[in-house]
Amino acid sequence: MSEDDRTRCRCAVLNVMSGEVAREYARYHLHVERTDGMGRQVHRCEESGVSWIEERRPSGYSEEVTVLRRAPD
Ligand SMILES: [Zn+2]
Repeated sequence: MSEDDRTRCRCAVLNVMSGEVAREYARYHLHVERTDGMGRQVHRCEESGVSWIEERRPSGYSEEVTVLRRAPD
């Protein structure tokens, strides 16, 4: 994945992403805004103003999978 792909805003066209893609998107494109009432991190895109909720899901193997879900408006 190129640097440009990591940082390009896809907030308007995607609803959910998971795994490596979600981790990289959160790291390179989003900023942590707050933690919600359920202890999940809420990330925000400053470019589009879209908020994303980070969830962790058991993958069935040893590691958890990061899931980013676009927050409802
Ligand atoms: Zn964005």
